[in-house]
Amino acid sequence: MVALLASAGITETVLPLETIRQVITAKTQAIIDGLSDVGRLTHLAHRVTEDDVTERADILFRHNKRVAEESLLREMQSLGYSVTHIQITDPVVLREIRERADWSALKIGQTYNYDLAKAVRGIIEDTPTANRWVIAHRLGIWESARNDWKEDQIGTTETYWSRHHAIMEFYRLNNIEVRAWFGHSLICEQCQEIAAGNPYTLEQAEAIGLHHVNCRDRWDMEDPHPEDLPPLEDLWWAQQ
Ligand SMILES: [Zn+2]
Ligand SMILES: [Zn+2]
Repeated sequence: MVALLASAGITETVLPLETIRQVITAKTQAIIDGLSDVGRLTHLAHRVTEDDVTERADILFRHNKRVAEESLLREMQSLGYSVTHIQITDPVVLREIRERADWSALKIGQTYNYDLAKAVRGIIEDTPTANRWVIAHRLGIWESARNDWKEDQIGTTETYWSRHHAIMEFYRLNNIEVRAWFGHSLICEQCQEIAAGNPYTLEQAEAIGLHHVNCRDRWDMEDPHPEDLPPLEDLWWAQQ
């Protein structure tokens, strides 16, 4: 996805929904326009619809909300706060999680439709005589191979994003002075470079964020001085 957008001259990680809709749709449509009738019908039958996107957005919303709640809970417990359960009720946070879910679901659906168009084109190029049954059969194989890694990537990216966002908000909104350390898996060079600059201020960590899709690195906060921690009743923890 990032590569796809970069090839369209767009490098920002978070794009407005409309931009994603247009960029990916235009690229997908260009491929579909070049397909035979049977190719076009096959794409239509297999593509992700608006309903699929809505359903995915709801699933992501519940998942991301739960991850944010669990992350906040663990972070607060590690700081010594006696909290046993968190249910996010802060409307601003709920709206952010909702917007992220909608954005991700649309991006995932649009990317799928683009990849699907390329897959159909590839099958027809390989086997120009393929009828719709042959194409559907080959697509089934393509789809299960893609889902194996793609769902894992989506889960990782959404989980890390949700944790990251919740933790950053917690420290920022509570004005707790901490230093942030980046690391965990550090399997790519860019992430290793970020880690080489450890530690960072919270502002720097927020500006750097999570470096890329499927990154398995995270920001961890150095334990603050106990005297810098507000009492629980003065603490912001996503409760209304
Ligand atoms: Zn990396
Ligand atoms: Zn990384």
